[in-house]
Amino acid sequence: MAQRPLRLSTAMTLACRDCGTLVELPAPDTAGTSYCPVCAHALRRSAGRGVAAALACALTTFALLWPANLLPMMGVTMLGMHTQSGIFTSVQALWDGHWVIIAVLTALFVMVLPFVRFGLLSGVLLCVKAGRRPRWLGRAFRWSLWLDHWAMPDVFLIGCLVGYSRVRAFLPTTIEAGGWCVIAAALIAMITRASLDTHAVWHWIETDRTPPADQPAIACAACSLVLPAARQGHRCPRCGLRLRARKPHATTRTAMFVIAGLILYLPANFFPMNVDIQMGQITPHRIADGIQDLINAHLWWLAVLIFVTSIAIPALKLLGLTWFLFSIRRRSRRHLRLKTRLYRVINEIGRWSNVDVFTVAVFLPLIQFGALAHTDVAVGSVAFMLVVVCTMVASRAFDPRLMWDAALEAPNMHASARNESPPQAEYAS
Ligand SMILES: [Zn+2]
Ligand SMILES: [Zn+2]
Repeated sequence: MAQRPLRLSTAMTLACRDCGTLVELPAPDTAGTSYCPVCAHALRRSAGRGVAAALACALTTFALLWPANLLPMMGVTMLGMHTQSGIFTSVQALWDGHWVIIAVLTALFVMVLPFVRFGLLSGVLLCVKAGRRPRWLGRAFRWSLWLDHWAMPDVFLIGCLVGYSRVRAFLPTTIEAGGWCVIAAALIAMITRASLDTHAVWHWIETDRTPPADQPAIACAACSLVLPAARQGHRCPRCGLRLRARKPHATTRTAMFVIAGLILYLPANFFPMNVDIQMGQITPHRIADGIQDLINAHLWWLAVLIFVTSIAIPALKLLGLTWFLFSIRRRSRRHLRLKTRLYRVINEIGRWSNVDVFTVAVFLPLIQFGALAHTDVAVGSVAFMLVVVCTMVASRAFDPRLMWDAALEAPNMHASARNESPPQAEYAS
């Protein structure tokens, strides 16, 4: 049942990365939000966004990351002794305690990748502003967008907030200069994301084109450029990614990381995240104990936050991805829009599960008062951080378009029977 793509104007054609539908959109300078007519994915948001605002925010974030990383964030005083905690000292304390996996991942997520992300983004937007198109521009922009998922100054800020609230309930705690820089860097990083019209930048780097309607098309998974299907296997001329009809081995890779996540989910919840030693008395803290402590301290909203980020979100990711994999295997054509929306949520919120691990990392150099009281990381933190990484990799490896492909392959498929069924002619192969 052949249908023409949704024709809003002849300006440019985009491929929805969630369902594969080809959609013609208004010109890039048209303000507003354009949605995929099949799965309701927001293909492009341009209202209130611009290169100048995004550039100012990216440069400010990049500048603030230096003091945020190097200066102390919090200080605690106990019986005349004063300790301080910062990003660098937290990573160093984890490394010195031989918690290598957490030290390396925290350093990557909070120190290295934010610098790379905002350095690349600032460079790209400076080029756009100056009207220059060096050859590396598309690749640099692709990497800066990819790193948006893995650079986590905003998640770290919430981890610090939880850590600060927990310590402040028992000990006098101060926010130091680095702490204010972390708050400012994380907030401006979020504004950078909100103010960036991604597709306007892509369109400026290389203009989108509309392929002939009678030819099969392929879309770049990174920049959504639509090209003739014969270009499969070649590099995208705009961002340099290899063009593939679907993510390679998507279901196998997703299944592998989901199984690894399921296996690690048990020790992550069963073993303590950290251990407090006060006057020789050892108190282990599992995720559930941490939530109970927050309830006892009447910090209800933090208890809800940790429950949602540490228990509910990882479970939702593992169950959701398992559902998607089974529905592909069974060629299910039910709830396609719901599953695609759920996938988008899972993909977006996965990184927020790191809040509790970051809280422990902030705690570590702060509560070090020798035999009197000190805290140490425990094995549950390693398992939990690996659960988060496994589920993040699994959701990134998954290709939601396979659910729509499987629905088309289902026996007794009647395209007109359900609104969720993608019209064949709109589909990017
Ligand atoms: Zn779509
Ligand atoms: Zn591309």
